[in-house]
Amino acid sequence: MIKCPQCNGTCTELASHVQYSDGTHGYGVKLPCLRCEGRGQVPDEMPLWIEAGHRMKLWRFSPYRSLREEALRRGMKASELSAMETGRREPVLSDEQKAVEGTVTT
Ligand SMILES: [Zn+2]
Repeated sequence: MIKCPQCNGTCTELASHVQYSDGTHGYGVKLPCLRCEGRGQVPDEMPLWIEAGHRMKLWRFSPYRSLREEALRRGMKASELSAMETGRREPVLSDEQKAVEGTVTT
């Protein structure tokens, strides 16, 4: 495990602005870190997930497909796709993207 890159191990994130369900607002609110789920640590591989998830999102945007559309194409839930794109879980690239990226030399 490595220190969470998002909250730097503090397990909380400072939200500059939140809107509550009753319509009121809060500023500078401490929230549990979504990335490490308040544990302060993430798996060693997560920086790679973040990088691959970012590529996955760029892929979806050209041509633009909404999170919901892409999730439907791939037969998964939008929440699962979102977790992959943000690197909170291991991204699995689509076969299409893999085929294209496979031809790219880095
Ligand atoms: Zn964290």
